Amino acid sequence: METLSSRHFCECQACAILMAHKDRNKPGGRAMQQVMSMAAPAAARSRFAPLAETLEDLLRTLDTRLGPILDLIVRIWLAQTFLASGLVKTLNWDSTVELYTSEHPVPGVAPDIAAVIGTGFELVCPLLLTLGLLTPLAVLPLLLTAAFLQFTYLALATHVYWMLLLGLLFLRGPGAISIDHLIAPHLTGSALPLASLMSRLGRAFRAWGEPVLVAFIRLWLAFVLWSAVQAAGAQSPVATAFAALLALALALGLGTRPAALIGAASILVLPLAQPETDEAILLAFLFAGLVLRGGGPLSLDGLFARRLLSLFPSLAGDPAWLQGAPRVVIVGAGFGGVAAALGLRHAWARVTLIDRRNYHLFQPLLYQVATASLSPADIATPIRTLLRGQVNARTLMGRVTAIDVDRRDVLVDDRRIPYDYLVLATGAKHSYFGKDGWEAFAPGLKKIDDATATRGRILAAFERAETAESEQERRRLVTFVIVGGGPTGVELAGAIAELARHGMRDEFRAVDPSSARVILVQSAPRLLPAMAEKLSERARVSLETLGVEVRLGAKVEDIDDGGVRIGNERIEASTVLWAAGVTASAAGRWLGVKRDNAGRIVVDEDLSVPGLEGVFAIGDTAACPAPAGGILPGLAAVAKQQGQHVAKAIRARIEGRPDRGPFRYRDYGSMATIGRKAAVADLLGVKLSGAPAWWLWGVVHVAFLVDVRSRIAVLVDWFWSYLTYARGMRLITGNETAPD
Ligand SMILES: Cc1cc2nc3c(=O)[nH]c(=O)nc-3n(C[C@H](O)[C@H](O)[C@H](O)COP(=O)(O)OP(=O)(O)OC[C@H]3O[C@@H](n4cnc5c(N)ncnc54)[C@H](O)[C@@H]3O)c2cc1C
Repeated sequence: METLSSRHFCECQACAILMAHKDRNKPGGRAMQQVMSMAAPAAARSRFAPLAETLEDLLRTLDTRLGPILDLIVRIWLAQTFLASGLVKTLNWDSTVELYTSEHPVPGVAPDIAAVIGTGFELVCPLLLTLGLLTPLAVLPLLLTAAFLQFTYLALATHVYWMLLLGLLFLRGPGAISIDHLIAPHLTGSALPLASLMSRLGRAFRAWGEPVLVAFIRLWLAFVLWSAVQAAGAQSPVATAFAALLALALALGLGTRPAALIGAASILVLPLAQPETDEAILLAFLFAGLVLRGGGPLSLDGLFARRLLSLFPSLAGDPAWLQGAPRVVIVGAGFGGVAAALGLRHAWARVTLIDRRNYHLFQPLLYQVATASLSPADIATPIRTLLRGQVNARTLMGRVTAIDVDRRDVLVDDRRIPYDYLVLATGAKHSYFGKDGWEAFAPGLKKIDDATATRGRILAAFERAETAESEQERRRLVTFVIVGGGPTGVELAGAIAELARHGMRDEFRAVDPSSARVILVQSAPRLLPAMAEKLSERARVSLETLGVEVRLGAKVEDIDDGGVRIGNERIEASTVLWAAGVTASAAGRWLGVKRDNAGRIVVDEDLSVPGLEGVFAIGDTAACPAPAGGILPGLAAVAKQQGQHVAKAIRARIEGRPDRGPFRYRDYGSMATIGRKAAVADLLGVKLSGAPAWWLWGVVHVAFLVDVRSRIAVLVDWFWSYLTYARGMRLITGNETAPD
């Protein structure tokens, strides 16, 4: 990642910024002001642009979201077909050898050897194919098998479909849900023999082979459709004309997606496939591929798409189009900042996203890292990866220390980054309500480092308890106090109790982890005050069932390194964790504007900062009025929606359109999990608890993770924990600094 303090800007966009900045400082140099008043190019304002962009977004979503799922299903389907054949052949070996002797001998190879090789491929390759590991090597033998059967044994439509689908997998790769996808970027530049040659060959094959194969598939499907209509002897001339049009559309690649969708639907009514075989399913896969990915470059659609890109440069991603565009600087790549940056992807704007770290963090799952369920990488995604495909955006790593509102500069480490529009999305930090000395004894959860340190603290407490010399000390060591009964406190308490009760069974000799005492202290009269009272009560009961002591209406008076004082009661505890309060980041101080008592910038209804033209504040660092009175809560969903709103508002201003008006938060509800099959959820007024809420919580959190890799990693870790209760990430790190 580029570190501001150590590198000069060299990318053209960055250089343009610097040039404009230098120019501005010259006597008479007004480049910055000119840029601000510059109108967006006509293409950006075209009334067809929103339509073209929506279409592009939709097609991209189909390809990137549903495409990988289709790839996975196709891989599994083909794998099970070949594996079943391999298993049957293994179990009936004499017949298999006979097959290779008389039915389809392989020229020049002895039947028993051909049987071993052929069956071996059918057993091994499907496993690799399912995992998406070494996919081209796994696909090739199966492709050759299908071709061999088709051309030397039985000519069947099924074999053709196998070949087409395997050919696509060979050229295109296994898709995003695969091991190859995870390791490919690292293999390309690796020192492995032939790695670089193979990846170059792969790219060349893909560039040339895929368009040709997709065009062939279209022609083939057109032929299948037309033949089916002929075979059905369509009486109606209208039906024949319709089928002819559909076949023509597919053949030419004109309106390929809708044509393929209709083609897929017609499998149900037309005799397109032999009903007793897998043909219909294979055919559906081919149609689905065209629906999701289109007709390819060798089609009329491809031709139109290229024309569209020349008309709407925002879609083409041509950096030249951005020459002189206004500079939007976004500080903070949390939920709000990332949503704002992504929301500007089609805007005529040069977007700079600055963060002090190089990753976006999914804070709602931090407590799972702290309790050894997930690894840090599962919930952190490099910011660069998120903006990889967005040419109008760049990412800078650096700590913002001030804003010069007069010169419209953001001060990052020792540099100045000029802005025309500024979005502050720097989040919040812990607040100890004036007792800052407690932080050393009761750390909170906000960063990855907090989570790994908390994990180390919890696990080390059990390790030390194992060697404790007195029962009293052992008791103190396995006593955990969590201060704060909001979602984070509830989730943390539940996860620690579950770890202690189930996650370390039979692993210790002197201490019984399940005897650990977990105490949740809440100053309010109920847990989860933002939720309905019924759900608060359910959460309390679930926690107590897990063995958590819930202290309601209890106020922590003091915290030190030996424990806490609640009212007059002293509790000896080696681990005290803070989940009680947050205060906004320093952004309000940078601007010198009005803040509320939690330090948040008081923003107007449209999220702009009063008195500062083109400056917005969003997320946890902004105090935005809620429609029902009060201030909107510090939630990921609020930050995200605000980021999207601000992106639209800035774009409207750049394009000279009317303002977007006030921000309206769409509240879909909230949820908190307590432990296995125990959660509470209040979604769109529907109140759920127990297992249904738990499943819903899991689905929503996986869906909200920002990248496919994280989703897969989290699902695998959760699935494993669910089956075994095991916590795979039980590492105590950061304690090895002392010399050996
Ligand atoms: C443990 C925990 C659990 C939570 N659980 C939930 C939940 O279940 N549901 C829910 O809706 N919300 C939850 N939240 C709240 C939610 O995560 C926040 O509301 C949300 O992250 C706010 O988004 P944001 O964009 O305002 O700030 P953040 O996501 O906090 O992002 C701020 C970004 O600004 C960067 N930054 C800060 N200062 C600087 C600087 N000086 N220079 C450069 N960069 C800077 C930070 O590195 C960070 O990347 C939870 C929060 C925590 C801590």
